[in-house]
Parts: sequence; structure tokens; C-alpha cells
Amino acid sequence: MIEDYLKEEVGLTPKDAMEEASRCLLCLDAPCSQDCPAGTDPAKFIRSLRFKNVIGACETVRENNILAGICARVCPTEKYCEKACSRCGIDKPIHIAKLQRFITDYEACTKMNILSKMEPNGKKIAIIGSGPAGLACAGYLAKMGFFVTVYEKYSKAGGYLRVGIPEYRLPNKVVDEEIKKISDLGVNFIFNTAIDSNKLEELKKENDAVIIATGFPKGKTLDIFNDNKKVKIAVDFLKEVKEKKGKIKLPESAVVIGGGDVAMDASLTLKKLGVKTVTDFAYEEFEYFKASKDELLKAREAGVTILDGYIPVKATKSGVCTFTHRIIDSKVQIKTPLIILAIGQTYDLDNLGLSIEDFNSSDYRIKNTNLFFAGDLAPLDKNVVYAVRSAKEVTNRIIDFLKEGK
Ligand SMILES: Cc1cc2nc3c(=O)[nH]c(=O)nc-3n(C[C@H](O)[C@H](O)[C@H](O)COP(=O)(O)OP(=O)(O)OC[C@H]3O[C@@H](n4cnc5c(N)ncnc54)[C@H](O)[C@@H]3O)c2cc1C
Ligand code: SF4
Repeated sequence: MIEDYLKEEVGLTPKDAMEEASRCLLCLDAPCSQDCPAGTDPAKFIRSLRFKNVIGACETVRENNILAGICARVCPTEKYCEKACSRCGIDKPIHIAKLQRFITDYEACTKMNILSKMEPNGKKIAIIGSGPAGLACAGYLAKMGFFVTVYEKYSKAGGYLRVGIPEYRLPNKVVDEEIKKISDLGVNFIFNTAIDSNKLEELKKENDAVIIATGFPKGKTLDIFNDNKKVKIAVDFLKEVKEKKGKIKLPESAVVIGGGDVAMDASLTLKKLGVKTVTDFAYEEFEYFKASKDELLKAREAGVTILDGYIPVKATKSGVCTFTHRIIDSKVQIKTPLIILAIGQTYDLDNLGLSIEDFNSSDYRIKNTNLFFAGDLAPLDKNVVYAVRSAKEVTNRIIDFLKEGK
């Protein structure tokens, strides 16, 4: 039901957080910190927490990761810091994400103001896109004294943070709080403005550098689903649900196609909104699933039936969908009023007059231009913590570029 969709998991109590921090081995080599893509330094903030220095922990987390409250909720830590945690060899890893959430919730409820900025340096930067990459670039550059303007095609900032990740995992209230920290650094936001190739040429002339952070906004599809009215693209569906705060009319049953986190988000969202039968068909078998274990478990616990190893081979306009198994001899036919396609997202660069090959460089710069890029467009993992990492790296890259002129 809608309340279920809108309700976020509760965080740790102070006592639980201190107990969890006290399990930390205070490792000298801090493998958790080495494996955080954004350099959040969990070993340092957990040490502060262990010695009851909550304010110090807040400072470490926010100074190191400008989107720390968001990462605390959505980072796939099981692939990074928690996988590296030395306690894995004893019992189970320290729950780093939950501790980070405790710390950033403390920061929010005590209204701490940790971020500061340097004197203006007279340089201007334009950023296209206000998803996590655009936001983090804006924050880091504003801190360094740049005059930053962010152009966003929608009426609000956040990208997939606002219109993709479901409310029960990432409430818009948290997104708003993190964006406020960035706008308080003096960042100028211009909304309802989609940049095209002509405007891009203007921005290149008017600014010392331009960052493209337009992400992967388009959901992929398959030819067999063309012009089929029963089909919705998962990212469009999740956007509609989040914008309407869950108030959307749904049928009694639905099929989801895909085995990644977006497919799990679509499946669980359907269940939370009261759809009785949700069946997910995934290309991968369970052991190779792309979705995080946690998301997969939650979807299964909510009653989503997941059939692994199947590919869709036919779909009729009346909603009869046929799947065959990739390995065993098995065919499944199912009639459904709604098919949600969650088979990946891709770039949309046509209006900017650029091609994806332009974004292949490891130094975040389009060759021989003052154009830089970050986030999903960079050849890195496609998630929020990597968006933050790319923002830190592109900030340093732009500082070098403006110093050296190359
Ligand atoms: C449903 C879903 C669930 C996810 N769950 C997680 C998760 O749990 N954990 C995680 O780490 N990651 C998750 N991700 C991935 C994560 O959201 C992305 O990797 C991240 O948002 C990429 O950031 P970005 O800034 O590059 O792009 P985006 O977030 O896509 O932002 C791009 C922004 O650019 C704007 N834009 C595009 N073109 C133009 C233009 N021409 N002019 C002006 N503005 C433009 C868009 O409107 C948008 O606001 C999820 C993604 C989805 C879709
Ligand atoms: S690796 Fe685990 S046990 Fe070691 S410092 Fe990091 S969180 Fe603590």
C-alpha cells in the first residue's frame, strides 16, 4: 500500500550504533577505507564513533563525501567497503552503511554546517545535469572558489536520486537536504533548461570549463516489445510512481523483465503498491545476478516470484509473453496486463551533438576541448558512489587543466 512505499527503514539507535562501532577491529591498514570508491574513509569515522566523538565522525563523513547521506542509504557497500572489512574473516562485516546513516542523520537533526568554501577564484564552470555527478561536481568546485552554474532539464535537481530510486529506499526529503548543502555553497541552479548543441557551444565560450553529467536517461527495449501498449520502461514507471508519491492505478498482476537493481526496485514497488502477483523473469541465473543480494532478498520476501535464466522471445499486443530458458529445455507463457522492462539504461547524446566514443577517456576530458564529464557517462561503475568519485577526480582534473592549459 502507499504507506508502505513511502516508509523508509528506521535507522540505528545511538546504543545500537555504538555497539556496532565497538565490533570494529580498528585495523591499521583499514581495508574498508581502501575499498571505498569515493574515499569516505569508514575506518576513520568508525574510530571516532567508537571513541564517542560523533561530531568528529560527522566531519569526516561529510568532508570526504559530499553526498554522504545519500550514499549511506543506497551505496552497494557489499561490493566495496563491507566486502573488504576484516571482520568478514571472523563473523560478519561491520555494517558500515548503517553507521554512516546514523552519523548523517545525527548531522541532519543537529543542523550541523560542516562544508566551507575558499575565496572566489574568478573562474566559471557550467554543469549540464543535476544528478549525483552534477551535484557532487558543483559542490566540490564551489568549495574550491569556482562560480558554478548547473543547468537541469527538469524542474528540480537530483536526477535518478529524485526520479529513479524509490521513496522507501531514498526519500526525497533526504535528497532535498543534501542538495541544500550544495546550493548553500553558492551554486546557481537553472531549471527547465535542456541544453542542446547550440547552447553547448555558447556555454563552452562563456565558461572556463563545462562538465557534461547527463547520465544514462533512456531505458533500453527489445524489438519484440515495439508499439506494445502493455509495456512500460522501468525507469519511466519508477519516475511516475515517485512523482505521484505512489498514487497510481495498477492492475492485479504484472511481469517484470530484468535481473538488476532496477528490476528489483520495479518489482518491490509493485508489491508495495498492492499488486498481488508480480513475476520477474531474469536473463542471469541467481548465482550471477546483477541485483544486490539485499535487494533480491527483499523482493523475494515480499512475494515476488523470480524465474532466473529466461529470455523473452515473443510478446503479443494482448499481453501474452513467451520466455525460453537459456540452458534447460523450458518454455513459459504468461498473460499479463502490464510488462515492465528493466533491461538496462543508456545515454542520450543526440541533442548535444556528441557521441559516446567522446567519453572513453580516463581523464574525464573530451579531447582538445574544455568539455569534461562525470557520473554514468564516465567509463566506470554506474552508481552514486562512483558519481562522487568521478566528481572529485574531474574537479582536480579541471584545476590542472586551468593551471596548465592542457
Ligand atoms: C531505479 C534506479 C535505482 C538505482 N539504485 C541505485 C542504488 O541503489 N545505488 C546506487 O549507487 N545507484 C543506483 N542507481 C544508479 C544511479 O542512480 C546512477 O548511477 C546515478 O544517478 C548516475 O548519476 P548521473 O549524475 O551520472 O546521472 P543521472 O542521475 O541520470 O542525472 C542526470 C541528470 O541530467 C539531466 N539531463 C539530461 N540531459 C540533459 C540536458 N540535455 N540538459 C540538461 N539536463 C539534462 C537529467 O534530467 C538528470 O537530472 C539506480 C538507478 C536507477 C534508475
Ligand atoms: S575493515 Fe572492518 S574492522 Fe577493519 S577498520 Fe574497517 S570497518 Fe573496522
